[in-house]
Amino acid sequence: MPSQRISDVGAVGSAFRLWKLYGFESPADLDLEDLALAQGVLVLEGRLDSAEARLIRKGNMGLIRLSDSILEPGRKRFAIAHEIGHWLLHKSVSQVLACTSEDMIAKYKASEPEIEANYFAAELLMPQKLFVPRINGKRPSVALVKEQTRFFLTTMTATAIRWMELTDDYCAVVFSEQGRIRWWRESKPLEGRFWLDAGAALSPHSVAGEYFQGKPISGAAEPVDAEAWVEDAGRLGESTLVEEAFVMERYGQVMSILCFP
Ligand SMILES: [Zn+2]
Repeated sequence: MPSQRISDVGAVGSAFRLWKLYGFESPADLDLEDLALAQGVLVLEGRLDSAEARLIRKGNMGLIRLSDSILEPGRKRFAIAHEIGHWLLHKSVSQVLACTSEDMIAKYKASEPEIEANYFAAELLMPQKLFVPRINGKRPSVALVKEQTRFFLTTMTATAIRWMELTDDYCAVVFSEQGRIRWWRESKPLEGRFWLDAGAALSPHSVAGEYFQGKPISGAAEPVDAEAWVEDAGRLGESTLVEEAFVMERYGQVMSILCFP
């Protein structure tokens, strides 16, 4: 991760140390609730209004309350890992932290502790050492992201973001809802060169845009006019790109994986 900031390096280092300390060899060894307990933090599920998880700190004891509205096991794992990140990294920030689903994907415009907790969670659940060899030389696709979710016991969302963080490829992942771009993440080589406006309407010429107009998704990667996604496509030097879309029924969202030639 060449362009990481110092604080992210600290977050990643802390997660890596836990793998070494407990001798984890694969994601299946990682029981998040046991790991939290070993750090002095009890995890309880219960009702939480408008937050995914909350961390309460009292001296050396901590309590993570996990929203019982989270259904996916991978999403629970990420939320607990994110809170363990706060526990280990942000002792002096606050004694009570409530984290929303937006915080769990935070990067742009987010506060530093949220970004750090996400880097920590990503490295804890999908260590770079294990992730990179599995994606090396491969372009991201829905099938390959799914394959990683099964291995790392993570969600499609967290896994696609992780892929973008760790690949040298020219690609991006975009999440859209009700015909509009919700949020997106580009790979490192595209940083500063690829920008979408969150909230903007999807182009009717994108695969995701067609889906929201009622056309079913083919399930294959399709070439699309680069202008359908990037306003100033000429600047990137490409006139077409490949889009593969995946419908996340539970959230009414579409995930588009975009790859530049
Ligand atoms: Zn948080």
